[in-house]
Amino acid sequence: MKYMNKFIDLVKIKVQAGRGGDGKVAWRREKYEPYGGPYGGDGGRGGSVWLEATNSLNTLLDFRFRHEFEAGNGANGESARRSGKSAEDLIIKVPVGTVIYEIADEAEEEILIGDLSKDGQRLLVARGGRGGRGNQHFANSIRQAPHFCEPGQAGLKTKLKLELKLVAHIGIIGLPNAGKSTLISHLSACKAKIGDYPFTTITPNLGIVKLHDNKSLTIADIPGLIEGAAEGKGLGFHFLRHIERTKVLIHLIDSLSDDPQENYQIVRKELAAYNEEILQKQEIIALNKIDALLPEQLEELKQIFPKALFVSAATGQGLEALKQILSQIQPEEIKEFPAEENKENIKNTENFVLKFDQRKGFYRIESELVEGLMRVTDFQNRDSVEHLFKQLKKVNIFEELTNCGIKTGDTVLIGKREMIWSDFADEKLI
Ligand code: GDP
Ligand code: MG
Repeated sequence: MKYMNKFIDLVKIKVQAGRGGDGKVAWRREKYEPYGGPYGGDGGRGGSVWLEATNSLNTLLDFRFRHEFEAGNGANGESARRSGKSAEDLIIKVPVGTVIYEIADEAEEEILIGDLSKDGQRLLVARGGRGGRGNQHFANSIRQAPHFCEPGQAGLKTKLKLELKLVAHIGIIGLPNAGKSTLISHLSACKAKIGDYPFTTITPNLGIVKLHDNKSLTIADIPGLIEGAAEGKGLGFHFLRHIERTKVLIHLIDSLSDDPQENYQIVRKELAAYNEEILQKQEIIALNKIDALLPEQLEELKQIFPKALFVSAATGQGLEALKQILSQIQPEEIKEFPAEENKENIKNTENFVLKFDQRKGFYRIESELVEGLMRVTDFQNRDSVEHLFKQLKKVNIFEELTNCGIKTGDTVLIGKREMIWSDFADEKLI
């Protein structure tokens, strides 16, 4: 990957999880056992929709062409207690650095539900519908021939906003026409669009700067900031948030402009209005276009900006000194966006770790002990399952799940096995 091009950084998508298959009403009929009792299997689970972060994508561009995603439905239950096949989950790849908001229907309110900041990290965004239970489950001592079963549950449908937080080490800021695109082209292999008018850059460009010691840093050309950008004027505002994550800012100033000092202040004021903390970032002031300056103009500017670098993005003059400074940045120092990972709550107990998201009805148990027990259980065999449940009860899993507010229909993930919590299971098997 030599350079990253212009990218799409904000999209809205719709996701629909699969419906669970319906349960089945069936009866056991064998040669010597004509009325053998209820025998209808369960419907399979509908596919869930997940987002997964990957380093192999840099943009949300793919979503421009496709914004509706649907996971498959579970198959209906069959006779002879055969469960319908569960649908496969749908996994949608997004670039690392994608922040996910759920758009609540009524007020189009946006709720932050996740931030995928590491390669391979996943977020469940729409849970598949639970399969309905077949009539085999509804027999008891009084009702021996249940003529009913459960329908499958609908899969969750939701709207999401995906936002790509730029993860760049260096951000180039400055007023339109300062030469930002020219500079990024020169420093990296990125072919940014260069023009002689404001707003050439309408989306940030990302490039990779190769430094001497084999180190490379990502650099972002933040689109032209104009006065009032923080209040939403011009195009700058939309991109200001990209600056939040960068480690170092190169503040580029057009030395040919009428008042370079004022230009500098305008940009600083905009940054402050957006987020005061940005002003704390390391800033390299670079006066650009010195190739076109008269010596006395250069001298004058050196008085005004004693700490600045003087460069020409066009001719490359002064860029070595700039690279020297950049080479002192440690790539790993990049600030991670606060990990509001899936908003999961975590509860530690002696035997297991319970991670859960009540709102989504999703519970995950991490435990070597419990996963081992699951592994040796034959889920086709009632005795074996009963034994498992007794062991789970011993380590207080059910108690903890109940304390955390689990409800019928919620998912419990243990190892790779997904189970549906039901009060029914609770009473009958334990
Ligand atoms: P941006 O709006 O900050 O991205 O600025 P651009 O990179 O698009 O450059 C604006 C204009 O300034 C273009 O016409 C460039 O050719 C010109 N320019 C950029 N850097 C230099 C430089 O070092 N010297 C001179 N003379 N012109 C430059
Ligand atoms: Mg530009």
